Amino acid sequence: MTLNAEAREKVWLPVRNENCTLCPLHENAQSVCLLGDGPVPSRVLLLGEAPGAREDDIARPFSGAAGKYLDRILSEVGLPRESVYITNSVRCRPQDNETPSKSQINACSVYMRAELEIVRPDFVLLLGNVAIQAILNTSGVMKLRGTSRKLASGATAFITVHPAAVLRNPALEGSFRSDLMTFARLVRGEERRPETETKLVQSSKGLAKLCQLLAEVSTPIVFDVETGSSDPTEEEGGLHPWSP
Ligand code: URA
Repeated sequence: MTLNAEAREKVWLPVRNENCTLCPLHENAQSVCLLGDGPVPSRVLLLGEAPGAREDDIARPFSGAAGKYLDRILSEVGLPRESVYITNSVRCRPQDNETPSKSQINACSVYMRAELEIVRPDFVLLLGNVAIQAILNTSGVMKLRGTSRKLASGATAFITVHPAAVLRNPALEGSFRSDLMTFARLVRGEERRPETETKLVQSSKGLAKLCQLLAEVSTPIVFDVETGSSDPTEEEGGLHPWSP
C-alpha cells in the first residue's frame, strides 16, 4: 500500500459515505464522496471546488488539466504535490461542471470538517470562490486573493484563484503564481516579500543612474518597466515626459 493509499483509508474510513444522499449530486456521479489525496497528517491542505470529468472517472482529485497545471506551479514554488494533502469542497462531480450551489457546499461540509480534523493542517490554501465559501462563508476571490485568515483551528487559510480559472483566463497567471510563491514562503516561515520600490526615470541621466544602482545590488532582483502611470503619487494615468 502506498503512503497515499494508507492515508486515504485513515482519512476516509471513518467519514466517507459512498452511499451519500445529502444533496442531489450523487445521482449522476460515478465517484460518490470522492477521496482526498496526500499524506496524513499534513502541514498543508489544498482545497478546491469539486471533481471534474477526469477526477470522477479515476477517483482522484485534481487529475485533469487544472490539476496538472497546479502540480507544475506547486513544484515551481517548492511545494511538490506529493508533500501536500489535496481535496475538494464538494465531493461529487456537478453535471456539466456547474459551480456547486450554496446548499450543495453546505451539505458536503460535514465531510470537509471531518477531513480537516484528521489531516490537521497548519496551512490551508483556498482555491477559488467555492473553497472560500466552504471555509470562510463569504466570496469575492479577486478582492481576497493574496490575503490570509486565521481559522478557529489555529490554521492559516490563504486565498488564491482556482487553477481552472487561470487556464480559462491566462491574464490571471501572474497573480496565481505570485500567490503560490507567497503561500510557499508562509509555509516555510520565510519573511514576506519586501515592498516594491518604485523609481521614476525621466531622463537619460536618470536612467544611467538607475543602471548604476542596479549594478551595485548583490542580491537577486526583479524589475518591471512601466511606460505609463508608474508614479504612485499620481492620481491619473498617462505617459511621463521624457527628455533624452
Ligand atoms: N477542480 C477542482 O476544484 N477539483 C478537482 O478535483 C479538479 C478540478
